[in-house]
Amino acid sequence: MAIIRYQALKEALSRKPVVIVENEKRSALFGQNVFNEATMRQYLTPDAFKAVKSAVDYGSKIDRKVADYIAMGMKEWALSKGVTHYTHWFQPLTGATAEKHDAFFETTMDGSVIEKFGGSQLVQQEPDASSFPNGGIRNTFEARGYTAWDPTSPAFIYGTTLCIPTVFVSYTGEALDYKTPLLRALHAIDQAATEVAKYFDKNVRKVVPTLGWEQEYFLVDKALADSRPDIALTGRTLLGHAPAKGQQLEDHYFGSIPSRVLAYMRDLEVECMLLGIPVKTRHNEVAPNQFELAPIFEEVNLAVDHNSLLMDVMQKVGERHAFRVVLHEKPFAGVNGSGKHNNWSMATDTGVNLLSPGRTPMSNLQFLTFFINTIKAVHDYEELVRASIASASNDHRLGANEAPPAIISIFIGEQLTKVLQELEGVSDGKLSPEEKTELKLNVVGKIPEIMLDNTDRNRTSPFAFTGNKFEFRAVGSSANCANPMITLNTIMAKQLKDFKVEVDKLIEEGNMKKDDAIFNVLREYIKKTKNILFEGDGYSDEWAEEAKRRGLTNNKTTPVALKAKVSPKAYALYEEMGVMNRVEVEARYEIEVEEYVKKIQIEGRVLGDIARNHVIPTAIRYQNMLIENVKGLKSIFEKEYEKIGKEQIALIREISEHISEINSKVEEMTQERKNANRIDHADHRAAAYCDKVKPFFEKIRYHCDKLELLVDDELWTLAKYRELLFTR
Ligand code: ADP
Ligand code: MG
Repeated sequence: MAIIRYQALKEALSRKPVVIVENEKRSALFGQNVFNEATMRQYLTPDAFKAVKSAVDYGSKIDRKVADYIAMGMKEWALSKGVTHYTHWFQPLTGATAEKHDAFFETTMDGSVIEKFGGSQLVQQEPDASSFPNGGIRNTFEARGYTAWDPTSPAFIYGTTLCIPTVFVSYTGEALDYKTPLLRALHAIDQAATEVAKYFDKNVRKVVPTLGWEQEYFLVDKALADSRPDIALTGRTLLGHAPAKGQQLEDHYFGSIPSRVLAYMRDLEVECMLLGIPVKTRHNEVAPNQFELAPIFEEVNLAVDHNSLLMDVMQKVGERHAFRVVLHEKPFAGVNGSGKHNNWSMATDTGVNLLSPGRTPMSNLQFLTFFINTIKAVHDYEELVRASIASASNDHRLGANEAPPAIISIFIGEQLTKVLQELEGVSDGKLSPEEKTELKLNVVGKIPEIMLDNTDRNRTSPFAFTGNKFEFRAVGSSANCANPMITLNTIMAKQLKDFKVEVDKLIEEGNMKKDDAIFNVLREYIKKTKNILFEGDGYSDEWAEEAKRRGLTNNKTTPVALKAKVSPKAYALYEEMGVMNRVEVEARYEIEVEEYVKKIQIEGRVLGDIARNHVIPTAIRYQNMLIENVKGLKSIFEKEYEKIGKEQIALIREISEHISEINSKVEEMTQERKNANRIDHADHRAAAYCDKVKPFFEKIRYHCDKLELLVDDELWTLAKYRELLFTR
């Protein structure tokens, strides 16, 4: 067998599960490495503690002197845990996390050495971050960017480094990261939702959106993954024939977790506990070697940080177990890809989940208000919602007959569909006392009961209501949740703001009671938003046609989908809600388009390289063996050899045909890539990569995969699907 593949396989097969010893309860571990409330009480003066609390709860500013005290407490805590360095931890627009470590260690004027960390180091840093993508922002404005402490996400210790979550902004105030617009969006939805929640409870002072992500991933043995240049460089396989057994038997989903994997999961969970990431659920997913991890939901900002941190921790723990963690949305053709469902809701500071039906008709009217407003928001901005999850890797799922389609629709279930139908019949204007009683008792009042048996879960819907939250399922497994969360919370903020205006108008000008006004506005929303509701099979061709008739967009590729981000409608939305100005929106668009181009470009290069340097030479080697064989047959059987060696001769010809197809296709692809690179306009370049370069991937792959089936297994250099997917 080809030496690299053979050695990798041998290594992979000889591994034993790492022994994990857990001496402490998980609850005792939880948050040990987090500068959380309990720790703050211990290490901060009462004034400093109060300042942080009030910054977290009400966004108040922390002055420099207090910051000094906070820094002192943080340093003392960190040193007590053997920490040597600190870093401002941020999320530049690469989607990953960034960190630059500085030691606490300092020399003083008199030559002695100390550990130092003051308020100024805590609050603001100026990393030399000129290599992060900025979409032209810092070229047009100021060359420098700085990071600033986000007290709403607690500092934590990772390894021997104190990590301080921060925003990353330019000197003129433009956001250069994901966190800044996210915090602004969360502020906007807090304001708008609190106003609406006050219709139902005057005591509400704050609304926080909540997020529970579900992270899907593949585990591939490190040696095997490293032996494949495509996995190493692009995070997915660019070729590989489907194994005889894939996921047909559905024997992996929720099956018994393999021991080596379980050891990895436990190790990972312990790390998560220490870091305060409240992971709770683990299980096998549908595809072989595919798994899922889900936490208990948290406030959105923290949940986003925790997911970003998790993706990093997953890789690090993976190294200890000789696993490569594959987060790509579609690492293997022919088996399921990975997503990251974003479960989303809103909670009040009075402890109410606004998307959960309650016990009284009033709380159910509140539920309906937030429920229907979400539908309206997604209805009005479906294209922007689609754009928020667009990436080269997620294109393999959306609309590619896998997981949710690229058409955004909402699934609410049969029972709630009926409730909406009944509400649609609410009379125009003031409600009669009978109607009110009927509505309150029999429609709204009965919601919790009917929802108990609302078990119908439509797996094909990209955006589904699941009892007490919406589940945005189209988010990609490798995505930073901030992107969809910025969009979702901004459109909801805008929607709730408009709703309030409409209801107040009816109350004041229409002289209506509050409930009547709410019912009237909701009724109009129900009528207007029917197009976005869909209960059927989202994968079917009929749905694509039906959606088209309904006027819903079906933006299948990233270059097309992203355009919605730079529409006048999007500019106006982000501007009005104070989330991003036009420059910031444009910058993000540019970066995402550019990233798309780079991803496809790299994939094209790697594929060309593997096809020419691995596949073709191997095929030729095998072909030569066949030729030798035929020559031998000829020397023994003379004239008869053509009959006896018929299959071999046909094989020799077939191999030649595939080789020549691969060669010419790689040649053509390279030419298209060169053409695309010459295009100045970024949009057009992305379109060229999408429409002209990418289609070659499938064509080249087809012939490579055919050769994989023809060529002697012993000669094949690349680890095969059955090895990648079933070795654990
Ligand atoms: P599943 O969808 O797999 O059946 P669950 O419904 O229990 O599982 O929850 C899935 C995810 O949704 C979990 O991460 C959970 O914490 C999260 N979740 C539950 N309630 C909320 C909520 N109110 N807001 C946000 N996320 C939530
Ligand atoms: Mg789920």
